[in-house]
Amino acid sequence: MVNYKELGLVNTREMFKRAVAGGYAIPAFNFNTMEQMQAIVQAAVETKSPVIMQVSKGARNYANATILRYMAEGAVAYAKELGCEHPEIVLHLDHGDSFELCKDCIDMGFSSVMYDGSSLPYEENIKISRQVVEYAHKYDVTVECELGVLAGVEDEVVAEESHYTKPEEVIDFSTRTGCDSLAISIGTSHGAYKFKPEQCTRDPKTGKLVPPPLAFDVLHEIEKKLPGFPIVLHGSSSVPQDEVDTINKYGGNLPDAVGIPEEQLREASKSAVCKINIDSDSRLAMTAAVRKYLAEHPDHFDPRQYLKPARENMKKMYIHKIVDVLGSNGKLAQ
Ligand SMILES: [Zn+2]
Repeated sequence: MVNYKELGLVNTREMFKRAVAGGYAIPAFNFNTMEQMQAIVQAAVETKSPVIMQVSKGARNYANATILRYMAEGAVAYAKELGCEHPEIVLHLDHGDSFELCKDCIDMGFSSVMYDGSSLPYEENIKISRQVVEYAHKYDVTVECELGVLAGVEDEVVAEESHYTKPEEVIDFSTRTGCDSLAISIGTSHGAYKFKPEQCTRDPKTGKLVPPPLAFDVLHEIEKKLPGFPIVLHGSSSVPQDEVDTINKYGGNLPDAVGIPEEQLREASKSAVCKINIDSDSRLAMTAAVRKYLAEHPDHFDPRQYLKPARENMKKMYIHKIVDVLGSNGKLAQ
């Protein structure tokens, strides 16, 4: 048993309280590789932002949970080395699908876990969520739960259709589970193909898809039911079209990839939405930079040569999200 506090990590409680009160959101970036971790920490330190580093099932399969846990511990030391005296870094389990998995992560030093029972019947979701909360709170680990179903594909989280969160359920759910934050479904979606072309309109000038707007009415109703309660948005990459274009220019094939417009995320950040999950944008930034570099330097074969611009490009994207979209820059407690 390792407590996250010994590793210099923090839970989400205080940062969410400040984010809700201050009208901004904390970035939750997924990480699988050292380059992503470095870029996240560099971006957070340079912008003086709290940050959530999250680990999905795919990340655990790819990189191994133990290695990722040590990388998060390293992230704290790295942030200090970069000059941040009191970094606020959360190590969060993304889409935990069982009590046992959440417990394992808590026991190995995660400071926050998500239990996702959104695909289960309502009462079953409450029962297991409650069990996770009871265990987590013994160690001051914070818990995110989910109500409503997001469409899209995220690692092994797949849903064909989305169901918006029902505002009439949120009080009962949050009271009975005791969760610290609630992931809701208001039209965001996992992956780089968030919407089918038939759900969108097309910009006549660029030919690019324009996605349907988020259900802000549902969000506002939820906020009214749970004033000040931390709300989480999953599947909130914007799928930047310049990265998609770069990928396609240098041999990729991502037609009609589309995400959530940044203006809408900026709008959501000002509400009780205090955690916004971004994964696909980092994948796109990395892939675009690698494709471009390799196309321009066919004779290079040292991974450091192409991973360096990949890391730079991800860092630029993280800084942009923090400063221009979520507004968490300069929000460290001290
Ligand atoms: Zn998610």
